[in-house]
Amino acid sequence: MTKNDIDFRILFESVPGLYLILDAELKIIAVNEAYAKATMTKRKEIIGRGLFDVFPDNPEDTAADGVSNLLFSLNFIRKYKKPHTMAVQKYDIRRPDGTFEIRYWSPLNTPVLNDKNEVIYIIHRVEDVTEFMRVKNEHEKKEALTKNLQEKVQEMEMEIFRRAKEIQKINFELEKKVEERTKEVIKNEKRFRALIEKSADMMTLATPEGQMLYISPSLTEILGFSIEEYQNSTGLEFIHPDDVQIVMEKIMGIISIPGGSFFSQHRLLHKNGSYRWCEGTFTNMLHDPDVEALVSNFRDITERKKAELEIINQNKILNTMNRELEQFAFVASHDLQEPLRSLISFTGLLKDDFKDKLDQNGEKYIEFILQSSKRMQELVKALLDYSRIGKERELVQIDCNILLQDVFTDMNLSISESKAMIKSNNLPVLKGFKVELRQLFQNLISNAIKFRKKDSIPEISISAKKQGEDWLFSVEDNGIGINPDDAYKIFIIFKRLHNRNEYEGTGIGLSHCKKIVELHGGHIWVVSKPGEGSTFYFTIS
Ligand code: ADP
Repeated sequence: MTKNDIDFRILFESVPGLYLILDAELKIIAVNEAYAKATMTKRKEIIGRGLFDVFPDNPEDTAADGVSNLLFSLNFIRKYKKPHTMAVQKYDIRRPDGTFEIRYWSPLNTPVLNDKNEVIYIIHRVEDVTEFMRVKNEHEKKEALTKNLQEKVQEMEMEIFRRAKEIQKINFELEKKVEERTKEVIKNEKRFRALIEKSADMMTLATPEGQMLYISPSLTEILGFSIEEYQNSTGLEFIHPDDVQIVMEKIMGIISIPGGSFFSQHRLLHKNGSYRWCEGTFTNMLHDPDVEALVSNFRDITERKKAELEIINQNKILNTMNRELEQFAFVASHDLQEPLRSLISFTGLLKDDFKDKLDQNGEKYIEFILQSSKRMQELVKALLDYSRIGKERELVQIDCNILLQDVFTDMNLSISESKAMIKSNNLPVLKGFKVELRQLFQNLISNAIKFRKKDSIPEISISAKKQGEDWLFSVEDNGIGINPDDAYKIFIIFKRLHNRNEYEGTGIGLSHCKKIVELHGGHIWVVSKPGEGSTFYFTIS
């Protein structure tokens, strides 16, 4: 007899074991004779019908869970494509008259897969263990020594059955939890990967020997090399030759420190042969068994670096120009003093010696020349003072309260003449340039007195408060005030808002103040209302 002559259907139907074949939608597609007999069904009547339509739970047994347990097992094998052995089940069978018969089963469900790894059939093999349970009971009954013992055995049996069910339930729950956790882990992994891969930062994981374990896409995008080109190198040839030694030394410095990290700014090679400035950190994560790598995280700062270098260059140029200008102002004002002195003294001589020979006009003209040259002398002296500010700098600890008392002593005359009322809060002790700070307070107080309202006593209040790292000072007066549109002009050298007939002055006092405040790393401004008074604010770092 050849293989083709074997009638597998007859063979299957007559196999002594209890077999039921389902399709993937849990429809009965084959059942052997033994199964039909054991379940009191007729093969022809049940083929093509849904499994649970043919085998429902016993409605009289409220604790019946055969259907749900069997469904779970079938879903399990449909999902994981693996056989599943169920615990002994109580699954009552419907008699032809519709009543149910108590039955216990030991089921095994096995998937049949096609070449695409899809479940096409499920083999549901059961063993009817009802008789075994019954015989076992009876046998034990007979052997029971006492009623008490018998009950205990029964109890234990029930307990085992209950426990088996519990274990099955716990298993179901565990499997569900594992599934949920797996989903969560996958989601988290995807999220972190997205974070890294969508970041503009360049990130790598490498061995201490420089072998690349991971390279983020931004690195290849920014520098133009492919992942393979990095993987076939030690990594060091991509660092600028002038930077490679310092980077290596820093890496060696952290290699024996778990979690050790350092900040670095260095140049990395671009595929086109140029170099990009990068900045970031290297961290030693070699000790962590889940990482075992040197982690680097860098960003491209080439544009910023260019701008920084540009600013440094511009600052250098500005400083040189400033120095030259100051030098010029110093030399010019210094050298102008001499001819001015001559002009004033000879005009004085002219006035005295030719007193009788000059007519009225002549005298008037000489007086004009004298006044103008004295005024010019004042201006030149002010300019000279301005260019001297901060020349011989020495930072010292200054108690501003004492400094202010000295200023009051110097200004004694103008204070008492104007009857000015000056109060100051507790002022700080800080590091600064003593002569300059003294001049700053003096200028502000003398302006507050000078620009007082006619017929009113000047009231001046000086205070200071901490603002971050800086001190914020204020000098408030009740004077004539300043039009807000003019507020920025008054700090310009020789800029005045009034003519000299109204208020004496050169217009350089506030320029001095500005220069002194800036020398202390701060800035100065005014808040004022015309007719109500002004408050000058300045900061000292
Ligand atoms: P000067 O006092 O010699 O005129 P400043 O540079 O000190 O020069 O001041 C510039 C101008 O700012 C002054 O001419 C005045 O118009 C205005 N100003 C300065 N301080 C005050 C003040 N406390 N109240 C009103 N105006 C002021």
